[in-house]
Amino acid sequence: MRIGIDDTDAPDGMCTTYLGAVLCRRLAVQGFRVGIPRLLRLNPNVPWKTRGNAAVCIEAEGDPEEAFRIACTGVEEMAILDAEATHPGVVVVEDLPDPAFYRKALQDFCTVDEAREVLEAAGARSRGWKLGRGLIGATAAVSADLPDATWELLAYRTPARWGTGREIDRPSFFLSQEATTPRTWDTVDPYQGIVVCSPHTPDPVLFGIRGESPWWVAYARSFLVTEAAGLEQLYLTNQSTDAHLREGRIGTLEEGRSYRLPGTVAGRPETGRGGHVTVPLEDGGTILPCMAYEPTKGFRDVVRGLRAGDRVEACGSCKGGSLNLEKIRVIRLAEDTERRPPVCGGCGKRMTSAGREKGYKCPRCGARARDPEVCSHPRTLTCGWHEVPPSARRHLARPLVRGGANGKSDTV
Ligand code: ATP
Repeated sequence: MRIGIDDTDAPDGMCTTYLGAVLCRRLAVQGFRVGIPRLLRLNPNVPWKTRGNAAVCIEAEGDPEEAFRIACTGVEEMAILDAEATHPGVVVVEDLPDPAFYRKALQDFCTVDEAREVLEAAGARSRGWKLGRGLIGATAAVSADLPDATWELLAYRTPARWGTGREIDRPSFFLSQEATTPRTWDTVDPYQGIVVCSPHTPDPVLFGIRGESPWWVAYARSFLVTEAAGLEQLYLTNQSTDAHLREGRIGTLEEGRSYRLPGTVAGRPETGRGGHVTVPLEDGGTILPCMAYEPTKGFRDVVRGLRAGDRVEACGSCKGGSLNLEKIRVIRLAEDTERRPPVCGGCGKRMTSAGREKGYKCPRCGARARDPEVCSHPRTLTCGWHEVPPSARRHLARPLVRGGANGKSDTV
């Protein structure tokens, strides 16, 4: 059977993965055979998520009625039911639902009624609290197929420490990443010199190590010096796989979905208020503004380095009519040329425009010239993929250390 849970936390406490880890132990103590649980990230653009839109699936063998009772008791005990935005859901299925529901929850939006239909068709046991919105994530979690997957080893704090500052030895995290890269990632952000795998929020997570295999995350974990963890749990996950990206074309994009799409840079990048950078991308006569926000730090220099005519492939989410960039592949660089009035051959003064299509005129001696001076600037940007730094990366975004995007070939 598969047990799905979601929507148990609030900004000031708890985490559905922690409840998952506790349930794995409670089930095992009651004699269930428990498999490695799964941590599924769903559409990162749903506005009602608490943090990273996570849901949990536990595979177990035993009495489904008893498993359902244990899971519901866990939610009653541990979910932050008083929080306005917490609407838990628990499901137990013996027949696996169609993975189509998972893919929709990952790349699109679902309703609670749609989840209930899937559950009814699968003959599932289910319970929703309050609005029951967590049934969406819980149903998606038990429906998930994972054509590509990675691992995360999550360590949780002892409950007495929740809400206090985390005691971690920062250098040990840098050492861990250095020793295990590229098999693990996003432990630290070496560009900014910060630890990114240990949150600052009041939830139970102490740290999470992401990597290619259980062996690599366990090896990376062995370097870390921290306060004593209360609990540790290995999760199989769809994180770092680009599973949220659909193949898209500019002009056909829908708000709140994420895409990988081709385009040609249609103008100069501009830096706006707050340091956000925008660059227009064109395909089939339609323009799409692409955004690199301030938290993407050095990635903005990549975007600033784009010039009209550059051929690219962009990945990101469609929000407010623009694409929030997660990474970009420069396929072909255009020439970066600038046209300006020529310098007068007679007196050496720079000419000015003599009017529309009338060429140029020297303001000192009156000499005339037909053509502008065309100067070519060397390009510093390199072809290939460029990504946001670890501190700004979305859970589902595939880091370049895992190669390309979507696991698809880069032959365009
Ligand atoms: P938690 O640790 O509790 O899972 P979170 O950041 O993952 O925190 P939730 O509190 O679970 O976020 O809130 C996300 C809510 O959105 C859940 O109720 C989930 O069922 C729902 N949801 C997830 N994906 C979709 C989707 N594609 N369409 C509609 N609702 C969704």
